[in-house]
Formats: sequence, C-alpha cells, structure tokens
Amino acid sequence: MDDYLIRAITTNKELRALAVKSTEVAAEAQRRHQTTPVATAALGRVLSGALLTGSLVKSGEEILLKVEGNGPAGKIIAEANQEGDVRGYISNPDLEFYTTDNGKLDVARAVGNGELSLTKFMSMKEPYKGSVALVSGEIGDDLTYYFTASEQIPSAVGLGVLVDKDLSVKASGGFLIQLLPDASEETIQLLEGNLEKIKSVSALIEQGMSPEDILDELLGDLEYRVMARKNVQFKCRCSRERSYELISGLGRDEIAETLKEQGKLEVRCHFCNQSYSFEKDEVEEMLEELDKENTAEEY
Ligand SMILES: [Zn+2]
Repeated sequence: MDDYLIRAITTNKELRALAVKSTEVAAEAQRRHQTTPVATAALGRVLSGALLTGSLVKSGEEILLKVEGNGPAGKIIAEANQEGDVRGYISNPDLEFYTTDNGKLDVARAVGNGELSLTKFMSMKEPYKGSVALVSGEIGDDLTYYFTASEQIPSAVGLGVLVDKDLSVKASGGFLIQLLPDASEETIQLLEGNLEKIKSVSALIEQGMSPEDILDELLGDLEYRVMARKNVQFKCRCSRERSYELISGLGRDEIAETLKEQGKLEVRCHFCNQSYSFEKDEVEEMLEELDKENTAEEY
C-alpha cells in the first residue's frame, strides 16, 4: 500500500481531522541519510508532522518545520508542500541507540530542550514564522502545543515511527485533529476519550490500518467526509543543474582553489544526501565561462 494522507471534516463541522501513512517516506529518509534507530524515529516524526501541516496550506505554498533542541540530535528539518512532497534531514544521523525504560526509542532525550518553529511560505506574501519552546521533545506533543499556543487552534497531534531490528522502518504515520470554532463540549469529550485509547499511531499502521481506519478510531461515532486524499513521498528538488549554479556562484578564486586542492568539485544536498560531483574538465569549462562573463562586464 502506498503512502497517502487524507484530510477530512466531521459532518457536524466541529472537527478537522487528518491522518497519514508515511512508512515509505520514513524508510526512504532512513536509506538516504543512513540514520540509526533514534534518529530514524525523530526524523520520521518530523517528516510526518511536516506532511500533515503542509497539507493545510494552499496549493503552491509550502512549509518548513524545524525542531532544534540541545540534545545530540541537533537540528531536524523538514520541508513539505501541498502536493504531498516532503524532504528533510537531521544534523546527527548517527545517534547512539537510546531507549526509554519501557524499551521505546527515546526521541525526547535525543532532541533535548529547545524550540519548534514552523515557517509558511505563501504566494504573494512574506513568509510567516511561528515558534514555541519544546514541551516534551517527542515532536507530536510539541506540534500539538505549537498549534494551540502559536496558532490558537486547539489540536491533537500523534506521530510515530516503528524501527525494525535490521534498522529499516517497519511503520510510520501520524494524525492531526483540530477543533473548529463550533466544537461542542460533547464532541471534545468524545474525542478526548478516543485519543486516550490510542497508545501508538505507528502500532496501528503496523497492524495494517489505513489513514481512514485511524480516523475511524479517533472519531468513533462521529461521521466525517474526506475532503482530500493524496499520495505522499520523500522527494527533493535538488538537481545537477542547480548544484552547478550553486558552485558557479561561489566566485572564481574559491572554485579554482578547491579544484586545485581536490581535483574536482562536489556538492552534497543536505535534504536528501545526494552528492553531485563535477570533474576537472567540467570545472575548468565553468571557470572559462565565468572569465567570459567578467570580461563582458568590464566593457
Ligand atoms: Zn536533494
């Protein structure tokens, strides 16, 4: 089953509900960044959180979710758009294997204390950035707090990644429920009861549950209508052409010096860990081009 996300609204118009299955997304991130289990879980949760948040913006817009704590994980960053593409990285992919007392991957310890921020890149407007202090470092709870404190939308976020013994990703997913202005006390109580019953969203995914099944669990007797369903994937927009442009922007002297030292030029994309290598001939051609441009400017 492919990864996908659904966005729904209850027929009583009191709740907005989203759920995502992101097992392949997290697995792709694990393969690209060669993350160890705790790093896999931390990055996977941020990627799912970004997908959920990114599906609330308008078409063509995108978001950047950043978790920056003082723990060994360092920065964890994910960028997602409304189309369901996400990319991301963690500063330290080689985290030691931290588990909690009950044997769970200890994401909170890896993240530490710090800040969660969300930047929305909107068309025709300045980017909007909101941030909150991390309340738990587990990421799902932190995102819950972000929506409630920074955007004043009472929300519940659950994110989870299950890592297999061979370090691959077994299951990954998440949900986001938001109270709409008309939410009644009765609905809120029903939701709270259902939320308590859900121990782990990744366990539900591992059991074979779809995003619809997860919403059924969360919303119980409340009827809902799916407003959008889209496939989600780890997808980066870096390319050899863009890397070439990036290098040419470095300036002639720096390029020439690096070429002399290393015999070639290499650029690695933070987001997907893809490296682009430019051999001597190609770099010399680039230098000639730059010289031509400079001469042209002088005239
Ligand atoms: Zn990339």
